[in-house]
Amino acid sequence: MKFSKYGQQFTKTSAISQLMDDLGDALKSPTPVNMLGGGNPARIDKVNEAYFEVYKSLEQGGIDGGAIESVGNYSNPQGDAKFIDALVAFFNRHYDWNLTTENIVLTNGSQNAFFYLFNLFGGQFEDEKGEISTKSILLPLAPEYIGYSDVHIDGKHFIAIKPEIEEVEHKGETGFFKYKIDFDALENLPALKNGEIGAICCSRPTNPTGNVLTDEEMAQLSAIAKQYDVPLIIDNAYGEPFPNIIYPDVNLNWDKNTVLCFSLSKIGLPGARTGIIIAAPEVVKTVSAMNAVVNLAPTRFGAAIATPLLNEDRLKELCDDTIQPFYAKKAKKAITHIKEEMGDYPVLVHKPEGAIFLWVWFKDLPISTTELYDRLKEKATLIVPSEHFYPGLDTTDYPHAHQCIRMSIAASDETLESGIKVIGEVVRELYDNQ
Ligand code: PLP
Repeated sequence: MKFSKYGQQFTKTSAISQLMDDLGDALKSPTPVNMLGGGNPARIDKVNEAYFEVYKSLEQGGIDGGAIESVGNYSNPQGDAKFIDALVAFFNRHYDWNLTTENIVLTNGSQNAFFYLFNLFGGQFEDEKGEISTKSILLPLAPEYIGYSDVHIDGKHFIAIKPEIEEVEHKGETGFFKYKIDFDALENLPALKNGEIGAICCSRPTNPTGNVLTDEEMAQLSAIAKQYDVPLIIDNAYGEPFPNIIYPDVNLNWDKNTVLCFSLSKIGLPGARTGIIIAAPEVVKTVSAMNAVVNLAPTRFGAAIATPLLNEDRLKELCDDTIQPFYAKKAKKAITHIKEEMGDYPVLVHKPEGAIFLWVWFKDLPISTTELYDRLKEKATLIVPSEHFYPGLDTTDYPHAHQCIRMSIAASDETLESGIKVIGEVVRELYDNQ
């Protein structure tokens, strides 16, 4: 069978499909696997109990109740109207953004939102004179989320900027580093100056590193986006107010030039496939039209579970009081194990500022972390090697991009401990024998 050029993109193994396959295989494996590789959120009993309570309440009313309503009817392409109303009220209660229902559109997970947005703001453009140009999405700080790769239909997909790396302390301890945006490189980027950028995008907190761009960095990005008349897309999958897996005291801002993306996945509902975009009405209208073509309508089940929790601010409470402390504790535990196993080696951890991962840098490791991935897989331990996290950057001559791993901290305490023990054994041997 002959596939189109676009179709052929999916016949090759992409980084994300490899990751999802490994995750699936690990879950099916008859022998235990130290699964530190996926992006699945943790199962947190208290949180799941709240969802289950709402789930049971939806049954009330029988065939005329909320359960059947949420699966028995399409919503309009913008998404479940009650949920959108609840979101508008919720955000206006907690932020001064003055949203209306024209500012919100739902998608089937935020992955679906990025497919739309990157193809809306990247690819071929035609001006009033009929002249064609191509624009890319600018990622101001690599490494960035693996799932952005491969979503484009045409054009040069991403242009990314290498980070500045600063060794820092974390809670009074050394052995940590933090990435910062290299604004010098960014502002002098020829593609930006030549109008070849269609949008700027960053995840905050960042998957894979747990970095949180500072308020100053965000303000500068917002100003550059406005200067070049392109939107600033902020991927808030881990940020406040839900799931609120973010530790520094920073602000979340929105204005009409910002496209803010949320997800219900990391609050513990990844199977509900619910993404939320807050944007200017013209973006909302266009994404709604894309929903109509691609999906007819977004799913409604996540909306049905989340609506009552938003109305009573219980979701915010669950995030503040349960989800955030849960991951903070996990990060602390994982760091303790890393220090125990590899504290005497040139191993640095990115300052944990949020999300559900630790990003670990094995300075001058004698093999690439892609090879390390294979060695760890043989010992039933899964992580994700760093090279996948550089969409838009040629990493051939960039050793740092081959010296890090992403490690999920959503696993059980036992898995975290035994996984890090295996990593320690393998890495120590590599350093000792070089
Ligand atoms: N953005 C980031 C930074 C993520 O880590 C993920 C998932 O891991 C997504 C977006 C996509 O999430 P979903 O499609 O489940 O909402």
